[in-house]
Amino acid sequence: MNYYYNRTKIVATMGPASAKKDVLLSMIRAGLNVCRLNFSHGKPEDHKKVVDIIREINSEYKTNVGILADLQGPKIRIGLVKDGGIHLINGTRINITTKECIGDDSQIYITYETFPQDVQANEIILLDDGKLQLKVVETNRLDTVICEVVHGGILTSRKGVNLPNTKVSIPSLTEEDLYNLKYALEWDLDWIGLSFVRTGQDIIDLKRIIRESGKSARVIAKVEKPEAIDNIDAIIEATDGVMIARGDLGVEMPLEEVPLLQKMIARKCRDAAKPVIVATQMLESMITTPRPTRAEVNDVANSVLDGADAVMLSGETSVGEFPVIVIETMAKIVRNVEDLGYPFNASKAENLDPTSPNFLSDNLCGSAVYLAEHTKASGIVSMTTSGYTAFEISSYRPKAGTYIFTSNRQLLNALSLVWGVRAFFYDKLESTDDTINDVNQILKTENLIRTGDVVINTAAVPISKQGKTNMLRVSVVE
Ligand code: PEP
Repeated sequence: MNYYYNRTKIVATMGPASAKKDVLLSMIRAGLNVCRLNFSHGKPEDHKKVVDIIREINSEYKTNVGILADLQGPKIRIGLVKDGGIHLINGTRINITTKECIGDDSQIYITYETFPQDVQANEIILLDDGKLQLKVVETNRLDTVICEVVHGGILTSRKGVNLPNTKVSIPSLTEEDLYNLKYALEWDLDWIGLSFVRTGQDIIDLKRIIRESGKSARVIAKVEKPEAIDNIDAIIEATDGVMIARGDLGVEMPLEEVPLLQKMIARKCRDAAKPVIVATQMLESMITTPRPTRAEVNDVANSVLDGADAVMLSGETSVGEFPVIVIETMAKIVRNVEDLGYPFNASKAENLDPTSPNFLSDNLCGSAVYLAEHTKASGIVSMTTSGYTAFEISSYRPKAGTYIFTSNRQLLNALSLVWGVRAFFYDKLESTDDTINDVNQILKTENLIRTGDVVINTAAVPISKQGKTNMLRVSVVE
């Protein structure tokens, strides 16, 4: 299929606006790389229909579109309220109760059973993405918390609750998440996102469940809580990738801190070779209009400059009116910035950990990119089984194309999230020379490299052993 290959990948949330084969195909042609299934909404059978369409397209058009299952995590909500909406007035008091009821101006129900035990006086409660704010006056430590309305307004049913100061005791993987996870694993989805991650242990627990199920899905930690910021190094170490979930992050943290947090997290992820997605409100106005605001264009461009592996769309593609135009717009912004090129991440190359079991292959990957920069190579061509080499090479943001050959089918789609990587299925295990010549010829046939181009090849030798990357070759394409 002939379509545009952006280096910074595009993730789009699926929904009624996009979950149709013809629309999805046009979105993929325009540059979509990963489809996100938001398990906060919809039933498993609805998500399965989308999975089937994506898989059908992948096999019919030889594409490698990845699928990210996004689990809701310990999201807290209020219950139903009277007449579908109640008016909270500044300075008045309202009770939050764990006893199920229809909310009115005296009390509202919260879906967090131990809230009265976990909360303290003076803590802040944010409702509906922070539009309304309450302050805790007193808790009976049993079932009721008395609050004062700080910023009032209309509160409608089932709105989200954020508790930026409260140590929330709900487990990171809820019953509902475990139920949805079962399906995501059964369908062999490529990435599993976990919302409201607080510690590295949250990720370790999720990975254990995935491993015990015999599956190889990789994990995305959604960073959207102050505790996750405090524990960011341990989370990055434990996870396979990160999403900077700016929607909730901007409610739980002071909004003005989000831009610098984005830069800090993106930098750490790149150094750790863990893909990082920048998410939420990137082209929000395009939900209803075909042209974005200038500020949105700047946001996408700056996220690319911050070193994001991927930029994500939410409502723009799930319920928006222009799901194809929004991908075209995003791809154009991305491409325009990418034309500038990225500096080689030299500080990473100089600070590799000599105690790491991957120290030698990490050095080799850094050297491959360094060599590619200096020889003006048009491609870095690598063989990998685990994918490790692909993540490492990408993290240096090479100017040369990053072409990954693997016999690991699931990896093909998982790599669609990783900056700059184009992956190909390849399962012949010939001699090193034959394999290298063969993969280079495949790229030539695909018009990705030409006779006379310099190419850097990496592999694990002997190729039949599928060990760690230990070989680097520079050649001129014949
Ligand atoms: C976010 O909060 O920015 C986010 C991506 O999470 P969700 O869309 O699941 O609320």
